[in-house]
Amino acid sequence: MCPGCKNNKMTNSLTVYFANTESCYVIIENVPCRKCSQCGEEFFTASVMNRIDEILEGIKNVSGKIFITDYQQAA
Ligand SMILES: [Zn+2]
Repeated sequence: MCPGCKNNKMTNSLTVYFANTESCYVIIENVPCRKCSQCGEEFFTASVMNRIDEILEGIKNVSGKIFITDYQQAA
């Protein structure tokens, strides 16, 4: 159920995740999410959140200001 509008219709979707670490901006494309069909809010499941944490952890030492990766391809 959507915590925003209490709507029950959530669909599977893909989104772009933006993060801001101490050293750079991170963009992760094609992240699976649940999207509310009413208000458009997007939510990540716990396993996706964990995966994002892993990706962010893995690129901590990347040089450069902006790092763009793909959820499906990230090591
Ligand atoms: Zn909603």
